[in-house]
Amino acid sequence: MSGPLVLLVLGGTGDARALAGRLAGDPRFQASVSLAGAVDRPEAYALPVRTGGFGGAQGLADFLKETGVAGLVDATHPFAARISANAVAAAVEAGVPLLRLERPPWHPSSDDDWREVDDLDAAAAVLPQGARPFLAVGRKEISRFAGRGDLDCLMRMIDPPGQGVPLPRGRLVLARPSDDVDTEAALLESHGATHVVAKNSGGRWGAAKLAAARRLGLPVIMVRRPETGMAGAGAGERVGDVAAAMAWLEQLADKAASA
Ligand code: NAP
Repeated sequence: MSGPLVLLVLGGTGDARALAGRLAGDPRFQASVSLAGAVDRPEAYALPVRTGGFGGAQGLADFLKETGVAGLVDATHPFAARISANAVAAAVEAGVPLLRLERPPWHPSSDDDWREVDDLDAAAAVLPQGARPFLAVGRKEISRFAGRGDLDCLMRMIDPPGQGVPLPRGRLVLARPSDDVDTEAALLESHGATHVVAKNSGGRWGAAKLAAARRLGLPVIMVRRPETGMAGAGAGERVGDVAAAMAWLEQLADKAASA
């Protein structure tokens, strides 16, 4: 084979952005990134970006074949279960090697007070009467808490919720998470937060709010990761960080070059 290896990175995460930075300008690869279009102002990528769904697994498989993709990296968020399942099915259908880049989940330390739940509905249900939770929950999911009229919530999300989306009572802050523990602690204190509700995304993005909860002695309602359909034949390989993803891609490029 001659020429660079054509890659598609399914993105929407800090890891995808970091991987794009490593792939950009590397002559062994011709890579681009795909985004769902979930946020209004996505952060910049160092690679060409296409935006929007493919139309299910078959649509993604067709896209891979039509664009000659020779390696697919699923670097989507651990809670984006549908696209990850689609990536597995599409990679099998198109005969394209698949790599799952998924950062490890967070684990509680002995100083943490975590209550783990399966989903956001369960998180809403376990908050005690009259709690003042900090909800680190996106605009598509915030309405799960709307039924709890007794809560006084601090809600932080990147983009405003759509018109007509039912919100719980409380204060809305439009911002990306800070990676500064003091900033996160000050935000929690400004609300008199009694709990932190978070999804177990893992990684350094979003970890500061957990450190702030630990410092303030606040309990965390932690939502476990969903199953992403990555078990079984054809499910591809899995790595936990960008360096390991690069090593896998370099091997793939070497194999293609010597074929
Ligand atoms: P999802 O439920 O797994 O996917 C819903 C649909 O959105 C998919 O079926 C697919 O549409 C499309 N899609 C998702 N990711 C895509 C991508 N990278 N490129 C093109 N199409 C994509 O995903 P979600 O939970 O709504 O998350 C959407 C995006 O936001 C993901 O890319 C994810 O990395 C990012 N994100 C999610 C979370 C979270 O908590 N869920 C947090 C941070 C970032 P088609 O079936 O039409 O192809």
